[in-house]
Amino acid sequence: MSTRHPLAWDRAEIVRADKAHVWHPYTPMDAYIERGDPLVVTRAAGVRLYDANGRAYLDGNSSWWVAALGHGHPRLLAALERQARELAHCSLGGTTHEPAARLAAALCKVAPAGLSRVFYTDNGSTAIEAAVKMSVQMWGQLGAPRKTRFVALDGAFHGDSIGAASLGGVEIFRRPFAGVLFDCAHAAFPAEDAYARAFEAIASLVAGGADEIAAVVVEPIVQGAAGMRTYAPEYLRELRALCDRHDVLLVADEVFAGYGRTGRMWGVDHAGVSPDLMCVGKVFSPLFPMAATLATERVFDAFRGDKDRAFYYGHTFCGNPLGAAVAREVLAIYEDEEIVARAAGLAPRIAAGMAKLAELPGVARVRSLGMIGAADLGDGSGYLGGAGWRVYEEALRRGAYLRPLGDTVYVCPPLIISEADLDELLAILVESVRAVPR
Ligand SMILES: *Cc1c(COP(=O)(O)O)cnc(C)c1O
Repeated sequence: MSTRHPLAWDRAEIVRADKAHVWHPYTPMDAYIERGDPLVVTRAAGVRLYDANGRAYLDGNSSWWVAALGHGHPRLLAALERQARELAHCSLGGTTHEPAARLAAALCKVAPAGLSRVFYTDNGSTAIEAAVKMSVQMWGQLGAPRKTRFVALDGAFHGDSIGAASLGGVEIFRRPFAGVLFDCAHAAFPAEDAYARAFEAIASLVAGGADEIAAVVVEPIVQGAAGMRTYAPEYLRELRALCDRHDVLLVADEVFAGYGRTGRMWGVDHAGVSPDLMCVGKVFSPLFPMAATLATERVFDAFRGDKDRAFYYGHTFCGNPLGAAVAREVLAIYEDEEIVARAAGLAPRIAAGMAKLAELPGVARVRSLGMIGAADLGDGSGYLGGAGWRVYEEALRRGAYLRPLGDTVYVCPPLIISEADLDELLAILVESVRAVPR
């Protein structure tokens, strides 16, 4: 147990200041301020969060999909501390340092074939922004300046900056900004029963507009924020061939699907394909926000030559030594502890837990993929629905943190979770869903 600092605030003080001053993401603030009794997290260790009353909660979503290695991993903390003593921040504009160089080399070693250049950014959204700008500038410099349009999938989520949101296909996240988003064609989501039709639709879209399309951007085989919607790897395989046929770039957004979440290191591994650009974030650098866009030599080569061909783009903290040192340690732990194989081994337990959930009335579209299990509740009110939040409250009471995506309830626990803890988490999910009248 950590000892509390004598000047530390108590729970009531924290909540008072929070409600007076903190504007929370993805949170209707009226309800939060009037009725909210927030979980006040004071520390975390392993797969558990601890609140201000000392109660433990299983971290059912790896704290927004980041803590695949759990909280407070001693090797990550040691890497962070070691690096902080040497060099905590330094520009990457034409200078370099060991953490950035070694991480890039390590990342390219485990990346899908052909990705050999690493451009650092500072979060998933900016990794996408970089991919968007690289695509457009690349085509301009290869003599195809009309290739500036993008294709993404219905339900896509690629982040919240304007560029990333332009690619996004979750209506409620787009609506307020519709007037300033750039044009992006959204193709039908390849749901199981409509898979062939969905592929035909995107195929005719790409074939018809290839001279104007810079890239197709997808979350490989699972859309996270849309509600853990999975699709067949075959679609991705055919999409790769389609993009090759029409000389359109394929951008894989692995910010959520990457790092073993789906049971393979990368989502694209299920399809055996390599993208032209790949974005990583979240688990990539879990202690210091950082992300990266990986590119092929073909993309990189388009930026060589005269000064005016360079990629004039970058973020203050891109390649930050702290983030880079931690990110390299993450890859080392993945190798040493065989994290992906371990995740794949736990996947059947999640599938079994979901099968139990499917037996309950009012539970629809139960699905699982690797270390993700999800189901839809309620009347189809989607992201603004209340059923998922009632399950959230029930789960807190039972010792698990299970933030829903509207009416989609899901688990996406740390990949290092023990079998016993995973079974407990799944049991809490089932019990909490059962406890909510529908
Ligand atoms: C979270 C997420 C992003 C955005 O990452 P941020 O770090 O929140 O900017 C992009 N794409 C996917 C698939 C994500 O899940």
